[in-house]
Amino acid sequence: MQPERPFTEVASTAKASPIIRIVTLILAALSILMFAALSRFLYQAETNAIHQSFAAEVAQQALSFEREVVLNLEILFALNASVSLVETMTPDRFDQLTDDVLARSPAIQAFAWAQIVTPETLAAFESRMKDWYPGYRVTERNANGEVVPVSLRPQYAPVQMIEPIESNQAALGFDLASEPRRLAALLQSMDSGKMVATAGITLVQEPDNQRGFLVFTPQFLPPVNEREAIGNESRVVFVNGVFRVGELVKQSVGSRLSQQMQLQVVDRTRGAQDVLYSMPPDPSEHWLTSQTVVHDLPDVAGRQWHFEVTPAASLYSERRSYVPWLVLSSGTIVVVLLVIYVFVTQRQTHDLNVAKSELERISLTDSLTGLANRRYFDQHLEQQWAQAVRQRGALSLIMIDIDKFKPYNDEYGHPEGDAALKQVAKTLRQVATRPLDLVARYGGEEFAFILPDTDDPVEVAQACRRRVEELGLRHEYSDVATVVTISAGVCTLYPSDSYEASQLTEWADDALYQAKERGRNQVVVYTPE
Ligand code: GH3
Ligand code: MG
Ligand code: MG
Repeated sequence: MQPERPFTEVASTAKASPIIRIVTLILAALSILMFAALSRFLYQAETNAIHQSFAAEVAQQALSFEREVVLNLEILFALNASVSLVETMTPDRFDQLTDDVLARSPAIQAFAWAQIVTPETLAAFESRMKDWYPGYRVTERNANGEVVPVSLRPQYAPVQMIEPIESNQAALGFDLASEPRRLAALLQSMDSGKMVATAGITLVQEPDNQRGFLVFTPQFLPPVNEREAIGNESRVVFVNGVFRVGELVKQSVGSRLSQQMQLQVVDRTRGAQDVLYSMPPDPSEHWLTSQTVVHDLPDVAGRQWHFEVTPAASLYSERRSYVPWLVLSSGTIVVVLLVIYVFVTQRQTHDLNVAKSELERISLTDSLTGLANRRYFDQHLEQQWAQAVRQRGALSLIMIDIDKFKPYNDEYGHPEGDAALKQVAKTLRQVATRPLDLVARYGGEEFAFILPDTDDPVEVAQACRRRVEELGLRHEYSDVATVVTISAGVCTLYPSDSYEASQLTEWADDALYQAKERGRNQVVVYTPE
């Protein structure tokens, strides 16, 4: 059968390849993934850098706080040293010694002087203290928090003097040994002879109940004179300081703490978890507890304190750059643009290929009849010839020429001639039914069939002749018949390298010539002389 488009296979190869598209999309996805990984890496690196700088800030703050704590403890130490130089301590002397220091140290809430008293010497101690403070009594707090006279216990450590007295009246006479935290520190300082701090204590006399701690320093006084003798065992006295943790924070790092940092000072001595100071966290912030930076303060009068700062998420986000997002977005945009470019280019190439194959088709088709043209015929014949040589098959060729077509043209006009040519071409095409058969317009009113491996090429030629005659195209000017007829020459060869393909055309043409000679409207098979 003669295909409508002899070169449809050319067009099919020009179809846009989905493989290229899929590969392009996979590569694009991989590239975007790579950009995402790079951007994530940069984001991580930036997070680390921000955390490093945050940790460095916290380290600075912890150092300032530590210095402030040490400084305040040193004040107590110095006071203790000067106390030892005073032969006889009186409230007036204690006031003179502490007055200036207290005025200049906001973190120190009070300095107190206490001494060990036994149950036997308690009454004598109280009566002697009444010389200084008429209403003086040794007291403790009961379960309800009320101030009551002390109950019996092996020893007492009543507050004998306290400064500033105005704000600490209630503490005068309070037995420090009545409260476990104070007693523990007191005994420890007596045993070790060193400064010892208590665990955290809520300072009730402070407006916002801020937390504090007491530090005891022992004094082992030389034998006393008659007037000061209260008992044989009363030679241990304690100078103690009451410190405000919140004030220590304020004095050291107060101005440097931002709303985006949450500071806690925690006493973790022997596994304890005693929060001494905690900035009230802003509930509108998201706190990155996993990024908390913890600094251990070296020994605070026998206790282990931790300076802990948690950053707010906003602190990190404010310090971030746009570089990771820029890398991701610009990378993605570049990849998407490249994909678009590849797709558009591929589309254009496809369109070009389609146009090219269409041109090719046109260049191989006869425009009047739609049959393969002479060019295609020649190519096809060479191909079929070569194939037949390889396969040792037969190759047949039918040459057809319309009889007396010149008079037809002359009498009916050229347009009618063209119409007749079309009709004949259509009829011939219908005869060529096998896929490999080809019918071409060989020249003006000449047609040719190439039939590979055909047993009955003469039958085909006869069918052509009969069908054209049956078309019944009126031809009054032919002396062969009253209708348009054709003559055909058939030649079949077993192609071999000893022949050229043109031999087949030549002999088929010879046969056609014979058919014309013998009176036209007939088929002649080539027979060698
Ligand atoms: P015969 O073949 O039987 O010997 O006689 P003939 O009249 O057909 O002679 P010939 O083959 O020499 O004449 C060919 C004529 O075909 C010449 C021309 O008028 C006509 N022809 C060739 N090509 C075309 C064409 O494309 N269109 C039309 N209308 N006529 C054509
Ligand atoms: Mg002719
Ligand atoms: Mg002719």
